[in-house]
Amino acid sequence: MIDVPSIFGIDVFNEQVMKERLPKDIYEALKATIKNGESLDITVANCVAEAMKEWAIEKGCTHYTHWFQPMTGITAEKHDSFLTPCDNGKVIMEFSGKELTKGESDASSFPNGGIRATFEARGYTAWDPTSYAFIKDSSLYIPTAFMSYTGEVLDKKTPLLRSMDRVSEEAVRILKLFGKDDVTRVTANVGAEQEYFLIDRKMYEKRKDLKYTGRTLFGARATKGQELEDHYFGAIKSRVSDFMKELDEQLWKLGIYSKTKHNEVAPSQHELAPIFTTTNIATDQNQLTMETMKTIARKHGMSCLLHEKPFADVNGSGKHNNWSLSTNTGENLLKPGKKPEENTQFLLFLAAVIKAVDEHQDLLRISVATAGNDHRLGSSEAPPAIISMYLGDDLEAIVDAIINHEDYETHGGVLMKTGVESMPDFKKDTSDRNRTSPFAFTGNKFEFRSLGSSISISCPNIMLNTIVADALSQFADELENAEDFKSACRRLIRRTFKNHKRIIFNGDGYTDEWVQEAKRRGLLNLRNTPEALKHFVDKHNIELFERNRIYGEKEVRARYEILLENYSKVIAIEAQTMINMAKKDIFPAVSKFTGELAQTIVSKKAVSSAIPTDAEEKLLTRMSELLNKFAVLTSELEEKLALAKNYKDNPLTLAEYYRDYVLTVMGKLRVVGDNMETDMSTEHWPYPSYGDMLYSVQ
Ligand code: ADP
Ligand code: MG
Repeated sequence: MIDVPSIFGIDVFNEQVMKERLPKDIYEALKATIKNGESLDITVANCVAEAMKEWAIEKGCTHYTHWFQPMTGITAEKHDSFLTPCDNGKVIMEFSGKELTKGESDASSFPNGGIRATFEARGYTAWDPTSYAFIKDSSLYIPTAFMSYTGEVLDKKTPLLRSMDRVSEEAVRILKLFGKDDVTRVTANVGAEQEYFLIDRKMYEKRKDLKYTGRTLFGARATKGQELEDHYFGAIKSRVSDFMKELDEQLWKLGIYSKTKHNEVAPSQHELAPIFTTTNIATDQNQLTMETMKTIARKHGMSCLLHEKPFADVNGSGKHNNWSLSTNTGENLLKPGKKPEENTQFLLFLAAVIKAVDEHQDLLRISVATAGNDHRLGSSEAPPAIISMYLGDDLEAIVDAIINHEDYETHGGVLMKTGVESMPDFKKDTSDRNRTSPFAFTGNKFEFRSLGSSISISCPNIMLNTIVADALSQFADELENAEDFKSACRRLIRRTFKNHKRIIFNGDGYTDEWVQEAKRRGLLNLRNTPEALKHFVDKHNIELFERNRIYGEKEVRARYEILLENYSKVIAIEAQTMINMAKKDIFPAVSKFTGELAQTIVSKKAVSSAIPTDAEEKLLTRMSELLNKFAVLTSELEEKLALAKNYKDNPLTLAEYYRDYVLTVMGKLRVVGDNMETDMSTEHWPYPSYGDMLYSVQ
């Protein structure tokens, strides 16, 4: 039995450790920094560094590392030891405030979208005291932001922190209007539910596609897929359960509130949900969770797949980003109140989110756009590529009532006319029915469900915080100047609901009718990554980021390029892997199989009494035809891949080329390969089948 309270957070330099180990004044100064973002004095930093080092060494650490989140989407670390030589040939273990707060890093080796020329390669990492330092593999990890010496941000943490500040600033302004002068900080919170697959390591090792690209590039459907729906919430197999136990233990030690675990719909698919926390910490913890999942799976002879769509025809993996805003006084701003006057405040925040999502559908879509997620969005299990909002029947009725009842504007109590004196208590079961919606209100939070399983949750939350901050800011401008706050507020709410009602959709998002209906409503349907990303640099988006001090134009353009380049690179690697598999393994295997079949037929013919069956000859003909087609398509893919270099000067054109030419041929090649697999003997096929992989862990 694990004693959870006694191990929880033991590898984290958290509040409790700080309190125990820091002098009172230093502790207070650090806390002020953490809470209010005040800058840190070097004497404080020195003292904190010393305490951290002592603590880390007691726990067996020899090294420390600045831990940062470059634009690769994964985390980066460079370890230095505490060791410092002395005159007498001995060493002491040292760690200064300067080393804690600032580190040098070679920025040119990370994606930088042209911001970092190689001749000026230095970038630096800066301690983010709002996220606790922790211990992993005998190193002290210090969460840091990463930027260039000229001040451009090169990572996913800095803009996230900025967006959190922005949404706080504007929400505080609004709350002042409601007389809440005691609110000084509003925090954006996130709970990120994480889906993943677990397969046997031996199967994984035999699949080049999984190893190099994270997803299967060939693979005929398994005899049994997910049609029986017998995996969802099913009993957890013992190997998986052992894995989950160790994972929980590791995560708890790292102070991560891993809470729920269950089987998902697809065979071999599972989910982990932590308890929500401040967005910045939730982001760091989600990265750590993904890393830990991979490491522990390996220990248990399994492989953890975090790709959005590792298997065709089987549900892909996503991540649900549960988002809310809460005040330093403990109020959740997205929780409907019991009294009508509280409801006005709730409705105003709701209106801000509705306006934000409607006006910036493109940015939300962009924030989840990756080559991997393109295989998932819009297919049967994930939300469609169209961004819309689900409010649930109760809340939509209220929104409708407000829109329809003209007199709502003039009389304070008109909400009563609609039969809703106070807001109903939205229970989860009434608000969470629609799993097809990309953006759903679930009682006291919004759940953004379009995220792919492997991405950092940073970008979606940067967008979310920024667009909501922007809407709140416009609201505050209007309301601060109003003569009669109450009636101005009601008018604003009604107008906003009316103007942005088109974004609300409570129906089934998987249907073709919705695609048509969405088009009629003028909603965007950005079906793939290049189509979405090109809007990143639209003038109004650049202005939005500048206005909210999240990115300058140069930074937006750099990000746009990095994301497009990443898309092209991912497809290039997949195409190369496919060609390799086709030429080195599949073609020779099928050739061998057909050769043996031909031999069998010839030798049967030689014996007059054993005439080859019709079936054998037919199979030989079919397989030979398929193999020819396969070879032709393999060559075509090679040609298409080689031609990509002609488009390399423009990242958008290059990405579009990969989408329209390379990806298309890959699709065709796969179909032929899968047809051959279906008709071949198990013995001859060079890879573990879908069945082998999906049912490999017992
Ligand atoms: P689901 O049905 O989606 O699994 P859960 O109630 O299990 O719903 O919640 C999923 C996630 O939402 C968890 O990570 C949880 O901590 C998080 N969550 C709950 N309340 C909030 C909130 N107010 N703000 C942000 N996240 C929240
Ligand atoms: Mg959920």
